[in-house]
Amino acid sequence: MILEKERADLIRYSNKMAHAGLTRGTGGNISILNHSKGLVAITPSAVDFEELKLEDIAILKLDGTQVDGNYVPSSETNMHLLCYKKREDIGAVVHTHSLYSIIAACLYEEIPPVHYLIGFAKGPVRCIPYFPFGSLELAEAASEGIEDRNAVLLGNHGLLTVGTDIRHAFSVAEIIEYVAEIHYKTSLKGSPHILDDDDMAEVYHRFDAYRKSERR
Ligand SMILES: [Zn+2]
Repeated sequence: MILEKERADLIRYSNKMAHAGLTRGTGGNISILNHSKGLVAITPSAVDFEELKLEDIAILKLDGTQVDGNYVPSSETNMHLLCYKKREDIGAVVHTHSLYSIIAACLYEEIPPVHYLIGFAKGPVRCIPYFPFGSLELAEAASEGIEDRNAVLLGNHGLLTVGTDIRHAFSVAEIIEYVAEIHYKTSLKGSPHILDDDDMAEVYHRFDAYRKSERR
């Protein structure tokens, strides 16, 4: 079976996404790119994550041609494929309908550096305007939004994150939702202190050092 590991990872992370409360129902979708084969594994459209089997995962070429899988791919396939075109360094894309990210996305507010963990997004998380789900306009605007970031809010819709692999892209989705919640709740209590560029530069420096120490 082609991309068997990627299919298994997609099933595991789709269920993780649902159990972590990052989405509701069959909303949200995940893809993984196998760089050497030039193929993308993506969750199918409107199938319950708990029911997903390896053979249900859609396998596509980067031009969108489906080469395997029992179901049609996610309705947001264009969004995933354009992200891989825009960012050659990424290996996974996660799209969630997580509550606090959606609240910010409905207010067209960016998520500022209210907590150093915003560093997972590589900066404040901007919000693109509303476009209908599944539309090419949404795909284009979203892929532009992740050009220099690992996360972008989709106006009146949800959150899109990218990463070097699925573990990374999923962590960004989990953490940005957490920071969105912190921003929402601290804003209810007052005016949260926002970290400045110098603070964030130090965070990136420490992230790099931490990553290097992890590899030993
Ligand atoms: Zn969506």
